[in-house]
Amino acid sequence: MEPPSHVGDVLGLFRHRNELSRVEVIERSGLSRSTVNHRLSTLLETGLIRPVDGGESTGGRPSTRFAFNAERAVTLTADIGASGFVAAVCDLAGTPLRHLVQTIDVWEGPEPVLDLVEKAFTALSRTDEEVWGVGIGVPGPVEIAAGRVVNPPIMTGWDGFDIAGWVGLRYPGPVVVENDANSRAVAESRHSGSDNLIALKIGTGIGCGLVFNGQIVRGNDGAAGDIGHTRATSADERAPRPCRCGNNGCVEAYAGGWALQRDLTAAGVEVGSVADMVNLVLKGQIDAVRIVREGGRIIGEAVASLVSILNPATIVLSGQLAACDEILLPGIRERIYERALPLATRRLQLRRTRLGELGGVTGLALITADRLLEADSIDLTLANLAAPA
Ligand SMILES: [Zn+2]
Repeated sequence: MEPPSHVGDVLGLFRHRNELSRVEVIERSGLSRSTVNHRLSTLLETGLIRPVDGGESTGGRPSTRFAFNAERAVTLTADIGASGFVAAVCDLAGTPLRHLVQTIDVWEGPEPVLDLVEKAFTALSRTDEEVWGVGIGVPGPVEIAAGRVVNPPIMTGWDGFDIAGWVGLRYPGPVVVENDANSRAVAESRHSGSDNLIALKIGTGIGCGLVFNGQIVRGNDGAAGDIGHTRATSADERAPRPCRCGNNGCVEAYAGGWALQRDLTAAGVEVGSVADMVNLVLKGQIDAVRIVREGGRIIGEAVASLVSILNPATIVLSGQLAACDEILLPGIRERIYERALPLATRRLQLRRTRLGELGGVTGLALITADRLLEADSIDLTLANLAAPA
């Protein structure tokens, strides 16, 4: 008898294509007819694939076409930012089915914030849906294996807190903890079919997620791509500004939402939040527009180095300041084209997200579904299914 671990390869074919016939599975997998029949029946039994269009019963002939059954179970995802989170129930294809947005202050620490996330999940949950896993996104560097944040510049009180352990006590299945910009990068990459992509999240802070060859680039310690805390090239021309991370002259200390808000207030325009500043920009307030445009140039200088080093196909802008893309993107574009290698910018696409505020939860749902359904993990998922509740 086939070990069930191998059904992941066949399931993978369905997750990447909408519908396949038995013959197509044989052709694409290179497996024998009897092996494919066995794997298809395992996947049908577990409900992970389904016959298409009720073909099962027509004329008594079994259907020969099947599709991934993304509705088989759900994942719960929460994309936590500095000033709010989006919580969502998603299907196994990473599509948010229902979501809500909650204002928080991430400085309050992990337990008050995660309590609110749990309440949001309860409000969104339905008793007829099976929860198979949970994905939590955080605005800081993540130690992936341990499911906790490490040395977060802005998440006071979260350093070393066992997020995965806390969530795992409350929900079944694996718990994925991921950096917020990385989860956005995965969502943007899968949705645009771009395997080499940089996701910039510009909100209160500046996040940057890298997906290359279709995989998240984390580096050795989860710190790869964190351009917000590299030194701004223009820092030397002015008095170096103190950053939230404890250093001076970081890109974020000039161009993060908190820094732009500080500069706007210093220019005599009192704004209470990054959201208020964004509203002023959208209304065309002259100081707000000038300050955000200049912030775009500073971000562009940092991104230009990344473009030369990594040669992405796409750069996608998300976060609260993405609403100001018409002011922000020209400055970013100007500096990239001025400073990066022409070969690296020849086919470069720079654009605002099309996923809106759901980019983070979408990416978390995709990463959690990978954790459940990929060839090396589906064994455990199916074993948990078979175990009595
Ligand atoms: Zn910094």
